[in-house]
Amino acid sequence: AATLAELLELRRLDATAGLGTRDLLAESHRLRAGIDADELVLHYQPVVDLASRRWLGVEALVRWAHPERGLLPPAAFLPLAEASGLVVPLGRTVLERACAQAARWRREVGPAADLGVAVNVSARQLSEPDVVDVVVEALVLSGLPASALVLELTETSLAASCTEVDIALQRIRALGVTLALDDFGTGYASFSYLQRFQPDVVKLDRCFVEGLNRSERDDLLAGTLVELALRLGCDVVAEGIEHPDQVRALTRLGVRVAQGYLFSAPRDPQDLFGPAPGRGGFSRPR
Ligand code: C2E
Ligand code: MG
Ligand code: MG
Ligand code: MG
Repeated sequence: AATLAELLELRRLDATAGLGTRDLLAESHRLRAGIDADELVLHYQPVVDLASRRWLGVEALVRWAHPERGLLPPAAFLPLAEASGLVVPLGRTVLERACAQAARWRREVGPAADLGVAVNVSARQLSEPDVVDVVVEALVLSGLPASALVLELTETSLAASCTEVDIALQRIRALGVTLALDDFGTGYASFSYLQRFQPDVVKLDRCFVEGLNRSERDDLLAGTLVELALRLGCDVVAEGIEHPDQVRALTRLGVRVAQGYLFSAPRDPQDLFGPAPGRGGFSRPR
């Protein structure tokens, strides 16, 4: 049963989504049951070195394998997970699974020995008092070295950040975990967060990649964002590459690492190592 706090949260969501509270309650109970029944699955998208096309790592992206509704994308259930607080147990499961999967690949697939894994983390998870313990536990249980884990935070998730969150992030970084700022450029607080949170990696949002080669103005905007991140000492990963000319443009801008359908869509872990040659593979560029 939902707690009073959960109910109040759901009422807030209710006001914004225009859904009946009873439907939301039923939906959140269904999601809870789905989490418990192991219906959440992770797909993985390779993170690619542009020069060599080698796969440096993968990003874990959650889906809900709903028995009646099919494979649901995060947009179909994450807002509810956020509003109901279920994103906390969900995020923990995702983190543990992704670390375990990456550790398995590093053990079992020869060239994947130094594979890294990136996991998206929500604001709610970050503000949990035990967030550092949750990260440590995922690493210890899986045997994955901290240096192989990247946590992706969005500007929105950091917008609500407070001293406690800042301290937790520092402790997580001290473990050797890499911190990435996701969807860079789309949040209203991008620049102040660059200053305050000092990410190791900045992920240039797909909307800037889309604009490349379209107009001088779009090129200038993407170029300036990349230059800013690079000059601040961050590594840049570009998101949503679909065309080879975007690779050329990004390379000219100094971007060396990217993700996108051009290389691979997010895939079921079983399908990630295909037999097809030229599909890439896990190992660092020379
Ligand atoms: P994100 O972390 O920015 O992930 C990138 C999204 O872009 C993914 O959508 C991915 O499938 C999609 N994408 C990748 N390459 C391309 C491309 O070339 N073209 C286009 N059009 N799209 C591309 P997805 O999987 O639907 O995830 C959406 C968002 O949901 C993620 O954005 C992330 O913010 C959130 N998310 C996903 N998994 C988790 C999770 O486990 N926990 C949390 N808290 N959030 C998650
Ligand atoms: Mg991400
Ligand atoms: Mg992103
Ligand atoms: Mg995004």
